[in-house]
Amino acid sequence: MELSLIDLRGLPENEFVSHIPENDIFLYTLTTLDFNEAERLVQKLRDIYPIAKHISGGPHITLFPQDGERVFDAIALGEGENSIIELFNDIFNSELKPIYRQGPLSDLQTIPIPSRKWLPKSSVVIQGLLNKEYLKHNGTSTLFSRGCPFDCHFCSNLEKGSVRYMPYETITQEIEYLKREYGVNALALKDDNGIPVGRRFARPWLEAIGKADIKWRGQSRATGVTEDMVKLAKDSGCVEIAVGLETITPKSMDILNKPLNLTEAKKYLLTLQKHGIGIRIHIIVGLPGEPENVVDSTLKFCDEFGVNSVLLSLLTPLPGTAMYNNPSSFGMKNITKNWDDFRVAFGSFDANEKPKMTFEYEKETPWGKGKSSEEIIDNYMILQEAFREGSRKF
Ligand code: SF4
Repeated sequence: MELSLIDLRGLPENEFVSHIPENDIFLYTLTTLDFNEAERLVQKLRDIYPIAKHISGGPHITLFPQDGERVFDAIALGEGENSIIELFNDIFNSELKPIYRQGPLSDLQTIPIPSRKWLPKSSVVIQGLLNKEYLKHNGTSTLFSRGCPFDCHFCSNLEKGSVRYMPYETITQEIEYLKREYGVNALALKDDNGIPVGRRFARPWLEAIGKADIKWRGQSRATGVTEDMVKLAKDSGCVEIAVGLETITPKSMDILNKPLNLTEAKKYLLTLQKHGIGIRIHIIVGLPGEPENVVDSTLKFCDEFGVNSVLLSLLTPLPGTAMYNNPSSFGMKNITKNWDDFRVAFGSFDANEKPKMTFEYEKETPWGKGKSSEEIIDNYMILQEAFREGSRKF
């Protein structure tokens, strides 16, 4: 069997097909944001390669299997490490089933290090992953854990309430593999908690990364990480932490089941600064419970803490979240089913392009008057412009 991984990132959609040679089987993993684009691609590929089978998994297919059944020859629900083996055995025996559902979660203690050998080197390694003096480092992304111990109502992580970790020695081995094969010396940890919550997990994790002698960035909650773990993170090569603050409004955080002690959050930011770790913060515009002066108070906070990098998003009630499943509890209504509109903003709109809202607020919400969509988009654009003018990096 020959296998290739086709990297379509960065290509315009109308060029996808010209980069895809004929194959017997095409495999996809899809989020909600990708689904419509993938559906259009499958239709085009069926026209030119009519015998090929198309099989998909991923979060969107797991949440909306009916979408998957409509478009694909087979779908795999949930995690896929075991399903894919069953699926290929069935293909070899000409017994492909329409639906595969992995029972138990994959055991991270036993699954191998993800091989990158199917990808062109240029898709594995990029520069500019880290800031400042590390800009020219060869970087790549890794995931050493799955899940998050928390349960925020806006978060689309499908595994909330628990975390599975790779064996700590495997973390070091994976980094050594990336250094050896790809000359990597910078990592972006994609784990929900780049500094795990609780010393019991954080210490061996950070020590495992530290052994590999590499620079890295990751993300963490605004609270719950102690100073000794921040210091250990710095010693292990951490140069930037993206802090999942989301808002500086405690009321909004309570509504989102992400209670924020602003004093503790400020202390955490100061601790990161003290140990020379750069700060990036995540801010979401349009949250329930936001005050009228949300723009001014957010900018004031960023100035006060010298935040030089912001990941700005427009609130998007993604499928799988409590907000999507129960919008009225959050004073929300009319969530769109047009998956193309679920572009998570991330500061990606230019001055003349306004993002689209994917929902509306009721006129009266449990927390007072609901903001209009226009007001929320205006706030988003003002903040985006202010961050750009202030030369803060998105
Ligand atoms: S927003 Fe962050 S802390 Fe909250 S559940 Fe999602 S990953 Fe966990």
